[in-house]
Amino acid sequence: MAATTESLVDFDEALEKYDPVLGFEVHVELNTKTKMFSDAPNVFGDEPNTNVTPVCLGLPGVLPVVNKTAVEYSILIGLALNCKIAETCGFARKNYFYPDTPKNFQTSQYEDPIAYDGYLDVELEDGEVFRVEIERAHMEEDAGKLTHMGGSTGRIQGADFSLVDYNRAGVPLVEIVTKPIVGAGKRAPELAKAYVAAVREIVKNLGVSDAKMERGNVRCDANVSLMPKGADKFGTRSETKNVNSLRAVEHAVRFEIERHAGVLEAGQKVVQETRHWHEDTRTTTAGRPKSDADDYRYFPEPDLVPVVTTAEWIEELRARLPEPPAERRKRLKAEWGYSDAEFRDVVNAGLLDAIGETIAAGASAAVARKWWMGEISRLAKNADTDPEGLGVTPATIVELNGLIEAKKINDKIARQVLEFVLAGEGTPAEIVQKRGLAVVNDDSALGAAIEDAMATMPDVVAKIKDGKLQAIGALIGPVMKATRGQADAGRVRELVLEKLGIEG
Ligand code: ADP
Ligand code: MG
Repeated sequence: MAATTESLVDFDEALEKYDPVLGFEVHVELNTKTKMFSDAPNVFGDEPNTNVTPVCLGLPGVLPVVNKTAVEYSILIGLALNCKIAETCGFARKNYFYPDTPKNFQTSQYEDPIAYDGYLDVELEDGEVFRVEIERAHMEEDAGKLTHMGGSTGRIQGADFSLVDYNRAGVPLVEIVTKPIVGAGKRAPELAKAYVAAVREIVKNLGVSDAKMERGNVRCDANVSLMPKGADKFGTRSETKNVNSLRAVEHAVRFEIERHAGVLEAGQKVVQETRHWHEDTRTTTAGRPKSDADDYRYFPEPDLVPVVTTAEWIEELRARLPEPPAERRKRLKAEWGYSDAEFRDVVNAGLLDAIGETIAAGASAAVARKWWMGEISRLAKNADTDPEGLGVTPATIVELNGLIEAKKINDKIARQVLEFVLAGEGTPAEIVQKRGLAVVNDDSALGAAIEDAMATMPDVVAKIKDGKLQAIGALIGPVMKATRGQADAGRVRELVLEKLGIEG
């Protein structure tokens, strides 16, 4: 179990003395049909080592070819991040040995990334917007996947042997690198999470990545350093590798701030190194020392021609950009007329699309929100799934609401009907019909039930006659029972008063 022997300084105390500086390297796996430099299929979850060509393995004599779709996806990402797009750029070999990269080098971009000098406006939970400057977004290829067997931690230390799956070797990646982020202060952990969430949302919205962090489609290395408040020279950074959930990004940044402050307060120097993130203890431990001048002996890849981007091509791609997620949210909030809190809850519940589709199917914004945030969310929680995973269609909601508005059923029965719909009994109207659930507001049927109730409860009737109108409540129970819960309570009250000649 990884534990830290260093003493931490409490987060708030740390930030009274130090300003944090952040930097993120986010790797995005593209969902192209084939890999970056070969026609091997790019598919997650296949039998290990089946989607592999000699190019992925770097066998002698192979010739890689650039995947045009991957280049287009990279440009789309660059444009969505407000970057400049290089007119020409090439690939380089980043030389190192590791068993997950059988070529002994990773084909990447070095001096001339396809996209550079951009920014992303990141919205924090309370609506404050923080601009993160993007240094570069470059194309490269993923490594294979190692699985260490036999140990208790899944790490190489203590393992008996390791397995390697080259299906992932050569999968197209875009690495997005921020400029150093200053000024986040106490909100650094929150900003870290919001930034990675925003990048993930953008690539998902572009359709260029499956963007599932739990599958490693989006992976984040988080750089953190501290400098004394007011200083203008950055401190030494640590780089926590592969922090692969949004929550973990937030926690890792928070932990590193507390750890760096501990090191500095003890009069020691922060070591520039990579760190491993441990989800179980929410701590990091030292990885390998890493200087800025790590010598990967980069040199231009001789087997690939440069990528040349024409203005027409870029404009064609720009025209393909979907509405940015943040702008879409702003537009929908105004269109739907939700309050800040209502809208935030909907966003946090991941129900923008579901509600949008329900409104498109004919429901009002208020009705769509009521169903998705209310009953459907409740049922989903009970079933331990997402609201969207229940399979409620917009048409069902529109139909249920129509039945309520026509006073055929009340809210309570509508909720029951929804459960019958989910159980596969048919459409709401069919179920109401088949199960005889329509509200009884036909006065003759109600009148009979009310008279029966009054006859059996003369004391209640006397109280009502005496002006104690709240006693009517005692009659509603038996009437509901007689009508199998389908009476309209308001109408029952009216009829009781009418029968007794009392003004309501
Ligand atoms: P490497 O891959 O060698 O770590 P990169 O340039 O790809 O280098 O990424 C380094 C990241 O760390 C960038 O986002 C950069 O802005 C950020 N960074 C650089 N210096 C600091 C620092 N002193 N404190 C925090 N982040 C930093
Ligand atoms: Mg890097």
